[in-house]
Amino acid sequence: MPDDAIGRPDLPLLVSARPGLRDPRPGLSGLAGDELRTWIQAAGEPAYRARQVDDFVWGRSASDVETMRTLPAALRAAIGAAFRADTLVSTSVREGDGGLTEKALHVLDDGRLIESVLMRYPARTGQRERNTVCISSQAGCAVGCPFCATGELGFQRDLETAEIVDQVRTWQGRLAPAGRRVSNVVFMGMGEPLLNAERVIAAAEALTDAQRFGLGARHVTISTSGVIPGIERLAIDRPQYTLAVSLHAARPALRDVLVPLNRRYPVLDVVAAASDYARSTGRRVSYESVMIDGINDTPADAEAMARLLAGRSAHVNLIPMNPVAHTPWQPSRADRIAGFAATLRAAGVATTIRRNRGIEIGAACGQLAAEQAPAPAPDAVQRRRRHLEAESSAALVEAAR
Ligand code: SF4
Repeated sequence: MPDDAIGRPDLPLLVSARPGLRDPRPGLSGLAGDELRTWIQAAGEPAYRARQVDDFVWGRSASDVETMRTLPAALRAAIGAAFRADTLVSTSVREGDGGLTEKALHVLDDGRLIESVLMRYPARTGQRERNTVCISSQAGCAVGCPFCATGELGFQRDLETAEIVDQVRTWQGRLAPAGRRVSNVVFMGMGEPLLNAERVIAAAEALTDAQRFGLGARHVTISTSGVIPGIERLAIDRPQYTLAVSLHAARPALRDVLVPLNRRYPVLDVVAAASDYARSTGRRVSYESVMIDGINDTPADAEAMARLLAGRSAHVNLIPMNPVAHTPWQPSRADRIAGFAATLRAAGVATTIRRNRGIEIGAACGQLAAEQAPAPAPDAVQRRRRHLEAESSAALVEAAR
């Protein structure tokens, strides 16, 4: 991949010289089924050339058609004129956690910025090494969760299938020289995946196709803040993907504040749709909760979440909030998270306390892109803080009644 900035976070970003203009050539990694073979045969070349291209795209994470040296020069030129070998124009990477977490900021053809994160989990007794990549599905996000840096950026556009897949290929290209491989992919980066459901599903299919990237479907997690039509769409093909619901609060009044989409898709309906997904796929649903000090970590919230999830096929992950600029909130204290987890477990709900990765490199989704965006005016930040404080206090008062 054009990696002039890879591994050199001090380099300026190569933002497109044509902001807003799109490259009309589709990305090779986003082509479905027989599209490439059909194109190659229409170009008068034998079908086996498509297999050769696939080998470069999927087997070698190729980012430049000119590296596909087993193809005739004329075919390389024709493919390069019709397709992009890589839809990510440039990538810069920051390292944290002693090299175990790396975060990439990718520039797209129209100058938009998206992020992906690699989290390495070294082998332990009885467990193989895991290399988990967290990828973006949209540039910006329309949902606007107030604890999230991406939410602050607002919605910019949906990513193409190839732009989603190429984030994973970038990391695979970086891991391969050390004999490593991407083992898990989670759609938990920038954007609400199920508001770009068709392309996310196409990307997941490419990543799990044995003829393409070849990940096991059980190693793919698709998260959502609760887009019910998307959950239903996902269930149609009965994939073995893990569904992760960003819950953050079980009480509707508080969830309205933390996940504004709750006003459109209420939490009870979201959990019912997720339970249907669990029934039809046989896969336990993962519920995520970012833990915010004094806001959603109260005993009343723990009891409400326990009531909501008890008896369901569910696993809860409690994650201390990553500090994000412009919010009035802080991460929950460890003892409060432990107490919250104890309440859930007492109700029979499997619960894990996760630790944050990559705080020093801004690994919370949207933080790197937010650094590149113009800072909001101080009075706008103050207004937003006051608004959030008022809304969250009202939700807390309601819980105490
Ligand atoms: S947490 Fe997810 S859904 Fe909410 S604003 Fe951020 S990216 Fe969007």
